[in-house]
Amino acid sequence: MTVTLPPTDDTTTRTMQELYRHLHAHPELSMQETETCAFLTRRLDDLGLETFRCGGTGVVGILRNGAGPTVAYRADTDGLPIQEETGLDYASTARGTLADGTDVPAMHGCGHDTHMTVALTLAEHLVTHRSAWAGTVVFIFQPGEETGAGAVAMLADGLWDRAPRPEVVYGQHVWPGLVGTVDISSGVAMAMADSWKVTVHGRQAHGSQPDQSIDAIVLGAHMVVRLQTIVSREVHPMKAAVVTVGTFHCGLKENIIPATAEFTVNVRTFDVEVRTRVLDSLRRIIAAEAQASGAPEPVIEVLSTFPRCYNDPAATQQLITEFGGTLGANCVIEVPPVMGSEDFGLLAEAIGVPSVYWMFGGYSQQTIDATESVAGNHSPHFAPDSEPALAAGLTAALTAILSRVGTPGGAA
Ligand code: ZN
Ligand code: ZN
Repeated sequence: MTVTLPPTDDTTTRTMQELYRHLHAHPELSMQETETCAFLTRRLDDLGLETFRCGGTGVVGILRNGAGPTVAYRADTDGLPIQEETGLDYASTARGTLADGTDVPAMHGCGHDTHMTVALTLAEHLVTHRSAWAGTVVFIFQPGEETGAGAVAMLADGLWDRAPRPEVVYGQHVWPGLVGTVDISSGVAMAMADSWKVTVHGRQAHGSQPDQSIDAIVLGAHMVVRLQTIVSREVHPMKAAVVTVGTFHCGLKENIIPATAEFTVNVRTFDVEVRTRVLDSLRRIIAAEAQASGAPEPVIEVLSTFPRCYNDPAATQQLITEFGGTLGANCVIEVPPVMGSEDFGLLAEAIGVPSVYWMFGGYSQQTIDATESVAGNHSPHFAPDSEPALAAGLTAALTAILSRVGTPGGAA
């Protein structure tokens, strides 16, 4: 197999930088990526791909090039509610509106702008180098990754009824590693995640009359403390789980015992049985603590559910070899799974085909050496070294795609 490396000529670099800067400056929040979707659609249409809107603000581009395998490549498109503090001259000043109507700043703080830039450049490269490959590439520009809503929405909107079914789905994510390296896990790559909002109902009373109350603060606090025992006392010591209570809101004044408390809890697991055990324990403890206080059963609202991200071992091994050939074997780092989560895995799981997801480094050695600790994803300071990072991301993506559809000896 001859892999055609992407040109790193000035024109490609300049085009990628222009794309990247435009996308970076115009982030949109999850499932509201209207302008982004229109921009992507225009670019894909200009390249001559077949396109269709899918899952609200998602867009799919199909690039056909004769008989051959079909491969899918996914890039996510949403920004985050973060006030950008990178100081870049193309920093975002955009704003967005959360589901509850709150006006917030918006930023591509997770690097999805790099994902879109790489995918568009990849499409352009494949269009202009048709002799190097044969088959079909399906580009999935997925909205709403950060809320876990996007992949579900695209599947519900008939993604695989409208696009040709691939033999494999690939995707990648920028992260604060060294530019030119990829981190990849075989098998389970990322955790399942479940987020709940819990509303505890007590009974309001004057601060001087606790006997008249069912104190929602005391009750909620007991729940939060007892939830800490799930991982330490109920999960097998050789298994992994995380239970994090990330918010707790209750009360307005020191001499009023509030009627309600609200908290949110986030659960991470790798194993389906562990997940079931932890979620069952959550429900049991929340209900039992309410009963112990003589309070009504609390209301549990599911905020989001992320599936496991599972890298097909055979497809992963193949890719590790291919990456070794284009990036250099010492730049391919096999890593254990991480507790982060992604809804990428759903896209392939829905049609029972393998998928592989990897991380590509975003910072040059110079930047890493110059900083005590580089800013990570979701930081207001997250600013990958876009020139080398985009080139490396493009090489990785192209390597993966051509490993399936590349023609032996195909000329660039
Ligand atoms: Zn993110
Ligand atoms: Zn992300």
